[in-house]
Amino acid sequence: MTNKTLGLDNQLYDYLQSVSLREPEILAQLRQETAQLPMGRMQIAPEQGQFMALLVQLLGAKKTLEVGVFTGYSSLAIALALPADGKVVACDVSEEYTAIARRHWQQAGVADKIELHIAPALETLEQLLADGEANTFDFAFIDADKRNYINYYEQALKLVRPGGLIAVDNVLWSGKVADSQVQDNSTKAIREFNQQLHQDQRVSLSMVTIADGLTLALKR
Ligand code: CA
Repeated sequence: MTNKTLGLDNQLYDYLQSVSLREPEILAQLRQETAQLPMGRMQIAPEQGQFMALLVQLLGAKKTLEVGVFTGYSSLAIALALPADGKVVACDVSEEYTAIARRHWQQAGVADKIELHIAPALETLEQLLADGEANTFDFAFIDADKRNYINYYEQALKLVRPGGLIAVDNVLWSGKVADSQVQDNSTKAIREFNQQLHQDQRVSLSMVTIADGLTLALKR
């Protein structure tokens, strides 16, 4: 028994998946197809998709935001968990990757729940605010270029309602955040972001050690 968060070796990780993963076939197909891509490691872990789907259900969410779609695993996992009148506003800059996403959203029958904006996400978020959508989102997932994390977070914090949740991916960044030898821009940006969140009294905070680290910030 330990009261410290366990590091998972492959055996324990396989066990965790074997007794908890309930991955729909369409998500498994998308995950396998994405794994073949050179950037395949950018997709989230299936247990993380399941966890975020559970959060969305817990929140009773109807309107969610996603910054960084890639091939659409997280948006699909979330759309499947939303009620029939639920909506995902999804932001990405890649036509190529989101074409894979769209195909799977369609196959899963949730394409009408997902509104994809192909543009720099900061522009889309600015437009949503200009359109009067502040305080209207129940949930936001941030998983895009790390140098803009703080900017995405600040915009998302305006867009989610009080009691709404922001989830931010890759906050442990394969452990590089804790290694002072690593000083590349993305690592430094995540480190700075984590420190700012730690002090941010506008939110209740938990950093969850699922996959590559997921910070949960609940807007007060
Ligand atoms: Ca990620």
